[in-house]
Amino acid sequence: MTVTVTDWTSVIDAQGAVGRVPVLLDQVERGDAPDAWEELWDRLCLHGDTVSAAGFAALPRLAVLAPTCAQALELAGAIVRGTLRHPDGEALLARCPNEIARLRGLVDLKLRTRPADYHRLFGDLLALAGQYHWSASLGDFTDDFYPLSCPHCEAEVTIAVGDYGCYSAVRDWDRGDIERRALQPARVEELGEPGRWMHATAVRDGQQRLADGITCIFGSAECPVCAGVFNIAEAHTDANLPPALETH
Ligand SMILES: [Zn+2]
Repeated sequence: MTVTVTDWTSVIDAQGAVGRVPVLLDQVERGDAPDAWEELWDRLCLHGDTVSAAGFAALPRLAVLAPTCAQALELAGAIVRGTLRHPDGEALLARCPNEIARLRGLVDLKLRTRPADYHRLFGDLLALAGQYHWSASLGDFTDDFYPLSCPHCEAEVTIAVGDYGCYSAVRDWDRGDIERRALQPARVEELGEPGRWMHATAVRDGQQRLADGITCIFGSAECPVCAGVFNIAEAHTDANLPPALETH
């Protein structure tokens, strides 16, 4: 397999340093420095949130380690999740499409084993498939709320999906969610992408709550203010992706 060769002399990590990351990658590849992983996280993906240019540059080597190293797979997933939070994230990611495809395949294989951290891995899968805003916002549907703006009247509408019900409502500071309207889940055969693929993956892996939540979030809601009906996923995408990044 070919590995992208990186010129590390110009790649800055999250601590503002150059040159330390390849040393740490050498160490984790040899498996002789258990503490190296912690420092790698700090330099590549600070607080699991801010991804450095070095994070994207490290992806090819992490992808080589990932089949036999859960830490490498988890760190790679966290880096890819942060793509839109780095100004050049998409361009940097585009340099290693083969590695991204390989990582996506590994995460998909692991999901089939129904691991305890299924929900986090499902988020990694979404990011590796380019669904960054779903990766960042999709909950596990135990008690999830999505604040949206009604596309008809621009009223603030709260979408709830969880044990407390599946509804659209107006969130009142004193009285909680008022004017509740039941959501209309999408029928499975009518699901559009990426909802269809997300739902099929959850069903394949026996994640019924997740699958049901996806049909809700890709279904429609009635605005409690103007009674207009709108597609929840479209409103959510409009609210969370800059226009240039929307896919139609
Ligand atoms: Zn409205």
